[in-house]
Amino acid sequence: MNIVILATGGTIAGVSGSAVDTTSYQSGIVPIDQMLQGVGPLEGIAAITSEQIAQVDSSDMNHDLWLLLARKVNGLLRQADVDGVVITHGTDTLEETAYFLNLVVKSEKPVVLVGAMRPATALSSDGPLNLYNAVVLAASPEARGKGVLVALNNAINSSRDVTKTNTVLQDTFKAPELGYLGYLIDNQPSFYRAPTRRHTAASGFDVADVGEFPQVDILYGHVDDNGNLARAAVRDGAKGLVYAGVGNGNMSEKMEKVLQELQTQGVVIVRSTRVSNGIVTRNGAINDDANRFVAADTLSPQKARILLMLALLETCDPLKIQKMFWEY
Ligand code: ASP
Repeated sequence: MNIVILATGGTIAGVSGSAVDTTSYQSGIVPIDQMLQGVGPLEGIAAITSEQIAQVDSSDMNHDLWLLLARKVNGLLRQADVDGVVITHGTDTLEETAYFLNLVVKSEKPVVLVGAMRPATALSSDGPLNLYNAVVLAASPEARGKGVLVALNNAINSSRDVTKTNTVLQDTFKAPELGYLGYLIDNQPSFYRAPTRRHTAASGFDVADVGEFPQVDILYGHVDDNGNLARAAVRDGAKGLVYAGVGNGNMSEKMEKVLQELQTQGVVIVRSTRVSNGIVTRNGAINDDANRFVAADTLSPQKARILLMLALLETCDPLKIQKMFWEY
């Protein structure tokens, strides 16, 4: 088995002043070669090659790095002598990079994102075992065809459904309600279910020739929202807006009027929700047919933004985009 590790930074490569300091530290310091020295047992699992792609805190992840990663991963997985890819990443935006790659990687071979909640210098850092498990997963036949996976803390999650649920605890990556895909305990991945939405080899999205993405901004719904931020985003060039509405993607009449007006100017409006679980249904309290809005299904606002960015590369038609939100 040949596994390639692409390192981007994050807490897994973080350094703090003291071994008991787990929250004030600098991300993305320890290079991947050095990190691998702390994971000796990997030698029995796979032949590892590694490349340092970036050394950033994942709040500094950006679209250029995404495009670089997508091309790099696609190029590697086209090689017959590469069996899987592991990407080390900060945990703050790990779910976004994972879902982006889930939509644009063109391979059935495993791609696993991994990070850590405690810096490399901490007592009981979770980084080395998480990295080891991610390589085990990427080298396992069970992980093929499951889309881009997220593996931390002995749990395997689908990139579509996973989210960071706790700001500081190690037990943070979950798909609340929809659940883990499985566990990874003592070298053994155990899958109990598989993603049902289009991904990777079955995805229609291709970023091989994409230079930049259309601007899509997220707006957070609240009582007495006056719509000023939505108007400002469009003045600034937004071609799409994700509205993290209340409840089932709902909004005040005042906000609905602002978004209707922006829609008639050609801006695509996606209704997601600020609630952490559940479906945003089409034509609930808000009439999407009449407004030409799109309902985000179960995608969080941050993941709805990614799907909308990719969708806008192909079409501005809200009905075609709605279909994509049901499919991906
Ligand atoms: N701020 C860090 C990052 O996302 C947090 C982490 O990696 O756990 O890079």
